[in-house]
Amino acid sequence: MTAITAATELRSFTLAELQALCQEQGWPAFRAKQLFQWLQQKGAWSFSEMSNIPQSMRDVLAEKYQLAAPQVLKKQCSKDGTTVKWLLEFADGAKIETVLMLYERETARDRATVCVSSQSGCGMGCAFCATGQYKEYRNLTAGEIIAQCLIADKEARERGFNQLTNIVFMGMGEPLLNMDNLKRCILLINDEQGLNIGQRKMTVSTCGIVPRIYELADWNLQIGLAISLHSADAEVRKRLMPKASHYSLNELLEAVHYFREHTGRRVTAEYALFQGVNATVEAAHQLGNLLTGTDILVNIIPANYVEGSEFLPCTAEEQRQFLAILSTYNVSAQVRESRGTDIDAACGQLRRR
Ligand code: SF4
Repeated sequence: MTAITAATELRSFTLAELQALCQEQGWPAFRAKQLFQWLQQKGAWSFSEMSNIPQSMRDVLAEKYQLAAPQVLKKQCSKDGTTVKWLLEFADGAKIETVLMLYERETARDRATVCVSSQSGCGMGCAFCATGQYKEYRNLTAGEIIAQCLIADKEARERGFNQLTNIVFMGMGEPLLNMDNLKRCILLINDEQGLNIGQRKMTVSTCGIVPRIYELADWNLQIGLAISLHSADAEVRKRLMPKASHYSLNELLEAVHYFREHTGRRVTAEYALFQGVNATVEAAHQLGNLLTGTDILVNIIPANYVEGSEFLPCTAEEQRQFLAILSTYNVSAQVRESRGTDIDAACGQLRRR
């Protein structure tokens, strides 16, 4: 097993860092740009693929550096063909899942969204989440996150889309516990000579690590923020998200407000409905009371069944009632389309099988 470190994993390098590397090695400056394109745009998985780079240079790189080049252990497509899920493995054995969702192929609003993992596993232990059931986890490097985008970009193009258009950091792991790699990855994906995906097309989802939300806002980027709220009742939220509930709902909302003020970006609150837990009439009123007067958009997620979980998806009637109550508080809400449930690619279903 090969340990991957951010310092030697070349897909995590910025163009400036590659330029410095070339200078240090005595290689011409234009090689840095060629390397950057292979790593960030063309999606090279090995140094041997880099056909316009001299063999001697490739040999040095292969000896001293690594490439985030996951192996595809499994690829599944949903029956309706709109969702693809990959089980990927990195050189050290770390496994992750990545999901691509394809929308409106025939219209000008084509959207190909990838849901990337930011950690292999997750330490937050949310009770309803398949990923949270695993104890071991590690942060992914920026390059390892970008590798997922490159795989999804290739798939989207092969299916007739112009390119990958949106990225949501909502897969396995808590992205705000991997801040340095997250920021580096966002900037690299945004780079004109990389995947060139706009910051406004990227959304970071967090279970609510309050100090990190302030830090994220202070990056002054145009990325979107989604918070996993799941309950407006402190006790219920603690049951669902024991570690995230370390921060109170008030603290969380203050941080969200700061993000909104600082970035101008509207924040989304994710709310998965679980029967008899947070989908009740009382829960709807609590959520309405908590969010009334804010412009937070509630994303209602029809919860998906996770094997072994005590939490069950609510009924269509409970969902309808929940939304009706919420609307009396003038809280904006939408029901997120659940994709890929037949391949366990939907929200909360990702795990390292
Ligand atoms: S919901 Fe997100 S933060 Fe919570 S355990 Fe799952 S992956 Fe981790």
